Amino acid sequence: MNRRFSDDRLVIASHNEGKVREIADLLAPLGIAVVSAGDLGLPEPVEDGVTFVENAVLKAKAATQGSGLPALADDSGLAVTALDGAPGIYSARWAEGPGGRDFDRAMSRVHSELDDSPDRSARFVCVLALAWPDGQVKTFEGEVAGEIVWPPQGARGFGYDPIFRATGHALTFGEIDPAEKHAISHRAVAFQKMLDACFGNPSDRPDG
Ligand code: IMP
Repeated sequence: MNRRFSDDRLVIASHNEGKVREIADLLAPLGIAVVSAGDLGLPEPVEDGVTFVENAVLKAKAATQGSGLPALADDSGLAVTALDGAPGIYSARWAEGPGGRDFDRAMSRVHSELDDSPDRSARFVCVLALAWPDGQVKTFEGEVAGEIVWPPQGARGFGYDPIFRATGHALTFGEIDPAEKHAISHRAVAFQKMLDACFGNPSDRPDG
């Protein structure tokens, strides 16, 4: 069953600045005050789930329990067909190295593992988990299909954006206008499902 979101505050259960920025942009029309788990100083939970859904749920639950507020988590990643869906839930971990997270390293690994594979298809996947302090959690999934390009193109967005071109688009997610990415991305698709299920029409809200 759907549950209507009636609070006026929400924690974004992420310490990833790129993600927090995109989620805050997507939430902006709702007129809800948002704060990130990082801003609240909440610890980052260990992402030991084996699916996007498990990881999204554990992050949302940790943030709602730590803050006493409803929390929204996003677990997402790049799934490359010829790599059997890798890096998938390990997308952030592929960037980890001695000096911290480096997505040039992660993108190079995708490129080298793809080698000369003729299948360049890939998709971005996003699972949103919305958790309430009473323990209820709802999840919503979105995907966008596309292909891996090399070399990386564009400095907008974050993560793997410079090597991903959505089907039917001429530019990578690193090159397109952020507003255009918000209109078609895996996160936008999952968001729309969440809005429909829990937020109704934003213009129905008193401040919408
Ligand atoms: P996690 O969900 O925090 O485990 O991390 C997901 C990782 O997937 C991010 O660090 C990015 O590397 C990648 N990712 C997820 N969504 C996007 C996106 O919209 N653009 C580029 N990379 C993304």
